[in-house]
Amino acid sequence: MQFLLFFLALLIPFASHAAAKKDRGAPLGTFIAGEPTAPMIVIDAGHGGTDRGARGYVPYCEEKKLSLQTARLVKKYLDQLGYHVIMTRSTDCFIPLSKRVDVANQSTSNIFVSVHFNSSRNSTAHGVEVFFPDSKEKSTRSSSSKKLADAILGRVIRRTSAHSRGVKKGNFYVIRETRMPAVLVEAGFISNPEERSLLRTREYQEKIARGIADGIDRYFKDRWRSAT
Ligand SMILES: [Zn+2]
Repeated sequence: MQFLLFFLALLIPFASHAAAKKDRGAPLGTFIAGEPTAPMIVIDAGHGGTDRGARGYVPYCEEKKLSLQTARLVKKYLDQLGYHVIMTRSTDCFIPLSKRVDVANQSTSNIFVSVHFNSSRNSTAHGVEVFFPDSKEKSTRSSSSKKLADAILGRVIRRTSAHSRGVKKGNFYVIRETRMPAVLVEAGFISNPEERSLLRTREYQEKIARGIADGIDRYFKDRWRSAT
């Protein structure tokens, strides 16, 4: 027992060193030379806590759970690409919309991506759509948001082979009130029994999350290319 404790004591400095190293950020090898710091991204898992979001039955499925599982995977893939990621929630808790916007606006984040799942009275409705804010007063932000929406939708469809419902203008609070380019992804219909069965699987969630991360990566790479 004493030997075990001694061994653990030896390991602690290494573990804390590794954590400190991680805090300084992942290697930036994937970024174009001249870009001093990795972009900061806010990932917003929709709903949470008492706000369950859309629900489907047989098999039972809650939007708040799907959005958190998918958002966590998006963070994992973005971390691997070297981006800095802030989550508005990483557990099953209720966060008011205004707080989500505050988190984004008070950070130095470059973009905001909200992850949701859809619902319709028409149980045959299916597929993926991505919303962006459209404002004449903030036209630069609107056009950047649309580019981000296009990039994400394209990559999610490529990964999932889901039906594309297109990129659409949306007046949702979190994408309207945030100051950076922002999108809201509706990554599939919980109300459609076939799509719901897919959405519940880890494999399909990974495809959606990979698509969102790929789209974000594409967006930044396109921006740097056009800036140089
Ligand atoms: Zn939702």
